Amino acid sequence: MPADAHARDATRAKAGLFEPLAGFAVTAGTMFKKPNTEFYPEQKTPTAPRYHGRHQLNRHPDGLEKCIGCELCAWACPADAIYVEGADNTETERYSPGERYGRVYQINYLRCIGCGLCIEACPTRALTMTNDYEMTDDNRADLIYEKDRLLAPLQPGMTAPPHAMHPGADEADYYLGRVPGAAPATSGATATDAPRKPAAAGAEGATR
Ligand code: SF4
Ligand code: SF4
Repeated sequence: MPADAHARDATRAKAGLFEPLAGFAVTAGTMFKKPNTEFYPEQKTPTAPRYHGRHQLNRHPDGLEKCIGCELCAWACPADAIYVEGADNTETERYSPGERYGRVYQINYLRCIGCGLCIEACPTRALTMTNDYEMTDDNRADLIYEKDRLLAPLQPGMTAPPHAMHPGADEADYYLGRVPGAAPATSGATATDAPRKPAAAGAEGATR
């Protein structure tokens, strides 16, 4: 074997001796660092304010739904995770101001990537996202959320649809935020669409 090959082998052997020591140094240094383990679910770390969590379908102040069933959110979704079927409101059965409402609304959380393009596409701010990230389940079917789990819970002063628009108000008043709350004639109605898993209190739905 040539002399320079011997020299190379000797250098490698020397380096090999010190490699484990470098590894032990990393271990020893890490032992004295503060651990950053999160003890979830016992201790929950708050999300960032604009975290993209579970969606919410918002309501007008009197309880009518903001969704008009236009499907723009579904068309904007790159993961094909939203399914909407619109239907006509009637004077005896009204769920939203104006002509149409979202009769069927589904979000498939097996597909959703939390990108938020759907909420940007919504023309009425009906669809927003909350800070709720606890959405695991033990079967695939329950990860397809329907209106009962997406609609914002009724707040004080709201009445569950169907009901008439506020007396004297038209749909423009609703979209411009001029409707203060439920009309006196409907305020005694009972909420029949209580969500199975209500949206998180203080969710971003109102502001995003
Ligand atoms: S957040 Fe993105 S992936 Fe999820 S439903 Fe909206 S558009 Fe689709
Ligand atoms: S959530 Fe918004 S974009 Fe989607 S169907 Fe309803 S109104 Fe249209």
